[in-house]
Amino acid sequence: MSVLRAPDPAAVLRDFVARVSPYDPAPGAEPVGSVDVHSADGTETIRVTPHLARALAEALAGYRDRADRGTCATCGGRRLDENLHCADCGRLHGVLGEVIARQAERVRQRGPAGSAEAAP
Ligand SMILES: [Zn+2]
Repeated sequence: MSVLRAPDPAAVLRDFVARVSPYDPAPGAEPVGSVDVHSADGTETIRVTPHLARALAEALAGYRDRADRGTCATCGGRRLDENLHCADCGRLHGVLGEVIARQAERVRQRGPAGSAEAAP
């Protein structure tokens, strides 16, 4: 697993504000809030206009984490690795995972291999 270096949160927010502010239909509108960002460089306060709040909400609604591979069909967990293996219950998803799960269910329903049929 690779760990990505975290960007400076204040710089990220400043970039976001710079990207959306040219399209603010009411740039002088009363702020609806503010965000204080504490980073290694100190504390920065960002005024949140109604347009910026809407843009943040839309950006978050459209965000999908690169590690989001859906939910586990067995336990509902959200920690599926790149092989669609659930870190919580161990189920393997995907086409191969479905075949293995079906076969495991058939074996489970029959009991231990041939135990009932093999008995004299
Ligand atoms: Zn699971």
